[in-house]
Amino acid sequence: MNFKADKFHLKPIADRHHWLTNGTSLNEEDMIIYQNFGSLGEALADRMIENVIGIMEIPLGLAHHFVVNGREVIVPMATEESSVVAAASHGAKLARSSGGFYATTTEPLMFSQIQLLDCHDPFAVKMRIIENKEEILRLAREQDPLLHQLGGGPRDLEVRVLDNDPLPMVIVHLVVNVLDAMGANTANTMAERIAPLLEKFSGGRAHLRIISNLADKRLGRARCTVKKEDLGGEEVVDRIIAASRFAAVDPYRAATHNKGIMNGISAVVLATGNDTRAVEAGAHAYAAKSGRYTSLSVWEKNVQGDLVGSLEMPLAVGIIGGATAIHPKVKRNLKIMGIDSAKKLSEVIVSVGLAQNFSAIRALATEGIQKGHMKLHAKNIAMMAGAVGEEIDRIAQQLIKEGQIRMDRAKELLEK
Ligand code: NAD
Repeated sequence: MNFKADKFHLKPIADRHHWLTNGTSLNEEDMIIYQNFGSLGEALADRMIENVIGIMEIPLGLAHHFVVNGREVIVPMATEESSVVAAASHGAKLARSSGGFYATTTEPLMFSQIQLLDCHDPFAVKMRIIENKEEILRLAREQDPLLHQLGGGPRDLEVRVLDNDPLPMVIVHLVVNVLDAMGANTANTMAERIAPLLEKFSGGRAHLRIISNLADKRLGRARCTVKKEDLGGEEVVDRIIAASRFAAVDPYRAATHNKGIMNGISAVVLATGNDTRAVEAGAHAYAAKSGRYTSLSVWEKNVQGDLVGSLEMPLAVGIIGGATAIHPKVKRNLKIMGIDSAKKLSEVIVSVGLAQNFSAIRALATEGIQKGHMKLHAKNIAMMAGAVGEEIDRIAQQLIKEGQIRMDRAKELLEK
């Protein structure tokens, strides 16, 4: 090794590449694929995270046919999984004859938690904090004058006593209207600033100060209707409802059902430079909020016998701050969607989640999931077997024809 790994972060990217060729089995030729930094550029990539050696490319596709609150929307989706973009488009297409998706959001309220330890009289502490709410909110507000000026800022304090733990604690939730930002930095900064004041009023010790990703005050909601004729009759509607009931009562099924929703959600969250982990954590925590993990969406039948779907989940996404502000493609992706507020973005994202869920559940409840996946899956298998250029399509078609989408068969065909 040419230099110690603990100085890695101080080295220029070229030196890090050199280190890789010395310290791993990679050679100079391998380094070529790390040298293209795409639209991000080397300098920006190097500033965004630590120890950068390159970028990790994920395809960006466009989902079509979406109508959200009466507006046509083309949706950029960044995902490594084949069939996701096609499935979202297909779901959106079938919802169109009933007007597409109707989506709403709550106010963009995020909250940070401040954990207070060593409070002798936790229930009285709760009262004292509430009595001094205005002073605490004022101090929090001063941390972000710009947000306040724009109409956002701290809104409320909620105080919980967690006394079922051997270590009783007082938890303060600082609720902040974060407007068009995701809001984690905003709310965290305020939490850190008010912590000493909370110590003063509580006589306790402020420990953790961090937002909650169970952002259940910032919900996205969408509904759509799919006509029974477009599904092949009321029998298919009933099959989909039975599949939805399965997810509602069984956590094993619910996990996969919700993963299907997140296929769409995470792809748009990523394409808009938002925090996929924050949204995913929020979604799954919300699905388990009752104490039992369940499905985030519901499919039922209206009086005409048509299929009606609805989805409600936390959506902490923004168009300002974090990577959203600096990634050159994010700005363009928002333009493609015609998005000028976090609210509109949430409405599109939750609609995509519902469309994605519909396509998966329809396929599962009818022909099975593999049929739709086959074409792209076969191409992936062909590429994994080593096919290049025109070989990919030829081998994929043969695999589909034979009904054997397997790597060993792809290799055999390639050798032939
Ligand atoms: P930020 O702090 O970069 O930007 C928000 C700030 O922008 C506001 O405080 C405000 O002063 C300003 N602003 C200007 N115009 C605004 C408008 N119209 N609406 C709202 N604010 C406006 O960003 P952030 O959203 O607070 O933080 C997001 C980042 O925090 C993400 O990168 C996320 O990954 C990261 N993060 C997440 C967690 C978590 O999820 N647990 C924890 C820490 C950090």
